[in-house]
Amino acid sequence: MATNITWHQGLTHAERTSYLNQPGLTIWLTGLSASGKSTIAIALEQHLLHNSYVSYRLDGDNIRFGLNKDLGFSPEDRVENIRRIGEVSKLFADSGTIAITSFISPYKADRELARKLHQDAGLGFVEVHVDVPIDVAEGRDPKGLYKKAREGLIKDFTGVSENAPYERPESPEVYIDNSEGTVEDGVQKIVTYLVEKGVLKFPKA
Ligand code: ADP
Repeated sequence: MATNITWHQGLTHAERTSYLNQPGLTIWLTGLSASGKSTIAIALEQHLLHNSYVSYRLDGDNIRFGLNKDLGFSPEDRVENIRRIGEVSKLFADSGTIAITSFISPYKADRELARKLHQDAGLGFVEVHVDVPIDVAEGRDPKGLYKKAREGLIKDFTGVSENAPYERPESPEVYIDNSEGTVEDGVQKIVTYLVEKGVLKFPKA
């Protein structure tokens, strides 16, 4: 733990959001592997950027291959993975960016920690449960991960391995049944929530 460090108060979040004409917040997608988180996150990011909202997606590619490349999939490493993602998304949100995270984030306590980090800093946090029954996820399985997990080639696979449960959100801000409907339906559900809450408006200016 570093000592002799001081928190410098520079520009406030309110000043940043006023200059940028948009709120910084985090849209936190959670759900089983292959439930459709990344697909929805990509489409949402595109939709926001096309409407002049600065948005940035955090997912396995830019986190597990970089910042968190020292972490595996043990319960302890999953906790640390999500803790760091919570901190990074908070920084993006504080910058005035709409951060979209797309990670399984299977543990309720970890998601609550990420929520608290944002709330304590006065930043918005929108939990989105992208839900499909496990047989639908397993049927899609674009990366063949469920198959490998069933064959015992991947240990600690969420929803399959005994030591890797998925703890369903009890009251997410947005619930998407992604076994029915299109990816655009899922994006629309998130956007509608944000508009109804007065967080975003279309057109932006
Ligand atoms: P995750 O990021 O949750 O692991 P992906 O976004 O990679 O999941 O999606 C898993 C698969 O499901 C992909 O092949 C994707 O094209 C497909 N998919 C996602 N959403 C839908 C949907 N609403 N209907 C049909 N297929 C979908």
